[in-house]
Amino acid sequence: MSTLGTITVVGASLAGTYAAQALRDQGYDGRLVLVGDEHHRPYDRPPLSKEYLTGAVTADRLALADAEDVAELDAEWLLGTRAAGLDLPGRAVLLEGGGRLVTDGVVLATGAAARGLPGGTHLEGVHTLRTLDDAAALREELSRGQVRVLVVGAGFIGSEVASSCATMGHQVTVVEAAEEPLLPQLGPELAAVCAALHADHGVTLLTGTGVAALHGDGRGRV
Ligand SMILES: Cc1cc2nc3c(=O)[nH]c(=O)nc-3n(C[C@H](O)[C@H](O)[C@H](O)COP(=O)(O)OP(=O)(O)OC[C@H]3O[C@@H](n4cnc5c(N)ncnc54)[C@H](O)[C@@H]3O)c2cc1C
Repeated sequence: MSTLGTITVVGASLAGTYAAQALRDQGYDGRLVLVGDEHHRPYDRPPLSKEYLTGAVTADRLALADAEDVAELDAEWLLGTRAAGLDLPGRAVLLEGGGRLVTDGVVLATGAAARGLPGGTHLEGVHTLRTLDDAAALREELSRGQVRVLVVGAGFIGSEVASSCATMGHQVTVVEAAEEPLLPQLGPELAAVCAALHADHGVTLLTGTGVAALHGDGRGRV
């Protein structure tokens, strides 16, 4: 039995989907609404920098919930819809474009976003990697033929993208502010192993240096 008439989950990805499933598993039988600003049903992000980028898997293999899971959830999906704020006194989630969703409970599962670099936002050839659409755009560009790829940041995602691009035969350089790739995450010994792996696969590493800005070629391309 529910004491709340409507629960709205903002962010229709891993955390949002699992929160919704946990509510149902624990007996919540009220109205459940998932609001997600992406157009896709929840999907797995880890392959975006690996198997999806290299073309080993297609987007239809990434779904986090199959048709049966979706049916069991018995939720309303507002996809391609961004939540713009909360109206606490009015007990509502405000939607971009002026919509308003009156609700009794809210789960915020809005995750993380990729950080851009000064000057790079609108240049062709500059990609961030967070969403399936980001990965599809990058994959499309990489499929046109061999290119020089500069990866900014040698954390997990940057290192994975570098490795995927090298596997695809592209010429890859990685710029990393720390002295070794994955140093904060793995510590010095394993970071040195990762640096050696990059070198073994022909990836050029520029460490201990940051990227100040991105410059266009005057025709809108980096
Ligand atoms: C390329 C890549 C590779 C990864 N590889 C690994 C890996 O190998 N291993 C691992 O453990 N983790 C990996 N991760 C991290 C993992 O995917 C995240 O930890 C996980 O996606 C977090 O889930 P989340 O639901 O909290 O957030 P997110 O997946 O970020 O989802 C948040 C959702 O909320 C939406 N949203 C944000 N604001 C609003 C709003 N105002 N209104 C509506 N919707 C909104 C976003 O668009 C997004 O769809 C990887 C991530 C990426 C991007």
